[in-house]
Amino acid sequence: MVQVSSIHTSKELENIRYEIKNYSEIVVHQALQDYLRDNKISCYCDRCQADIIALSLNRLPPHYYVSSYGELMLKYESDPVHVMAVLLSAIQQVSDKASHS
Ligand SMILES: [Zn+2]
Repeated sequence: MVQVSSIHTSKELENIRYEIKNYSEIVVHQALQDYLRDNKISCYCDRCQADIIALSLNRLPPHYYVSSYGELMLKYESDPVHVMAVLLSAIQQVSDKASHS
């Protein structure tokens, strides 16, 4: 039987069982979804939503955790009032200066 390179690659991928993730990203994504359920923003395109999330994450401390596939995610305490205040500020900034035409 001939060994093909794709088999070798998939074996290497199987060995990567851990990922470093930032829990703040999940919190900000969720906060934006919550906000958009009841409020309007000036533009809903992917670029503007990504800008809002990036601006917010720059102002919040990161909470990195190690994720193992199939393992339950470790939850950090986050202050929802503070997260929403940071998000609102980012939404305002993106609304004032849309980075696309
Ligand atoms: Zn936009």
